[in-house]
Amino acid sequence: MANTADFLAHQNQELQALQDAGLTKRERIITTPQGARVRTTDGREVINLCANNYLGLSSHPAVIAAAHAALDSHGYGLSSVRFICGTQDLHKTLEARLARFLGMEDAILYAAAFDANGGLFEPLLGEADAIISDELNHASIIDGIRLCKAQRWRYRHNDMADLQRCLQEADAAGTRFKLVFTDGVFSMDGTIAKLDEMRALCDQHGALLGVDECHASGFMGATGRGTHEHRGVFGKIDIITGTLGKALGGASGGFTAARREVVELLRQRSRPYLFSNTVAPSIVGASIAVLDLLEGSTALRDRLAENTAYFRAAIQRAGFEIKPGEHPIVPIMVYDAVVAQKLAARLLELGVYVVGFFFPVVPKGQARIRVQLSAAHDRAQLEAAVTAFVQAGRELGLLK
Ligand SMILES: *Cc1c(COP(=O)(O)O)cnc(C)c1O
Repeated sequence: MANTADFLAHQNQELQALQDAGLTKRERIITTPQGARVRTTDGREVINLCANNYLGLSSHPAVIAAAHAALDSHGYGLSSVRFICGTQDLHKTLEARLARFLGMEDAILYAAAFDANGGLFEPLLGEADAIISDELNHASIIDGIRLCKAQRWRYRHNDMADLQRCLQEADAAGTRFKLVFTDGVFSMDGTIAKLDEMRALCDQHGALLGVDECHASGFMGATGRGTHEHRGVFGKIDIITGTLGKALGGASGGFTAARREVVELLRQRSRPYLFSNTVAPSIVGASIAVLDLLEGSTALRDRLAENTAYFRAAIQRAGFEIKPGEHPIVPIMVYDAVVAQKLAARLLELGVYVVGFFFPVVPKGQARIRVQLSAAHDRAQLEAAVTAFVQAGRELGLLK
């Protein structure tokens, strides 16, 4: 019979195996607010190119002021789930504002987008139904689908012919409702889902279309509404999930937006909503201020687009290979995992904070540095970052 000591020994073996495989994730400690520059525990300031702080709102004065105001007017926390005594006027306002911003009828808040996706599928679909999912969808979508009894199909990443195959198979299997679900933007490549083509395919097959907009809400499309706006299908998506923890302020919290009856059923049955605490008032108040900012002006998303275009061109001119595209996620391809780690480490010494991604986060032999641009970066910071990339790239023999 195994005892507690055996259990702990087992966990240590697992940790050692991760370490031996070079897969241990180390958390770097920063001592400043999130921003274009951050300070690490050794006291050095570095240019930050690895946050999801796309619009620079994580430390924006108007957002901080709104959080303070809501803290004063509505308190620190509610000590309740929504349906007992955890719903304030602020929560209802934010849900209505999110729905309007996204072009949807209604929205429901969650503690995180992970919960929005985790609690989405099971209340809406059953054994008779079909969920058709992109093979590279986010872990929270995969987990949410696992919790649902619907029949499952998976199509090759962003492959419309393969999506059509799945729709045909689901039809042939006699399924009742079909829901196609995709990330709007895929976080490792910055790939943008072809929502226009997907909408057409879904219409041909009477399928619903759902999109996770975590890497899109606030800045994709001409007014920042998201991938649906970017692809010309604003108002034509059935379900949108997203996060308040990236471009929309960067604190935490998530949401699902959909038709009124869908949102209402989620309020009745979605387990992460029913059995988890309400979003803190300070975050809710600040998120309303974020939507005020974004509906009032496109300056931040325009600045982000300019920074993205500048960096993508400059890093390629410097001789690096990137995954082509237009998203502020810029994968700089290194291919070799060890080189990717060395490059990230050297860049940190040179004052640029980036992270190397390698197997199993990306396929074997596809190691990369993932740069993420922000509206908070100024041109001098981006120029300095490219200069550091060139120096480190030469030292490591990546550039001539
Ligand atoms: C970050 C992310 C999530 C999780 O968002 P949280 O609000 O932090 O839980 C879900 N889906 C996608 C695609 C993401 O990128």
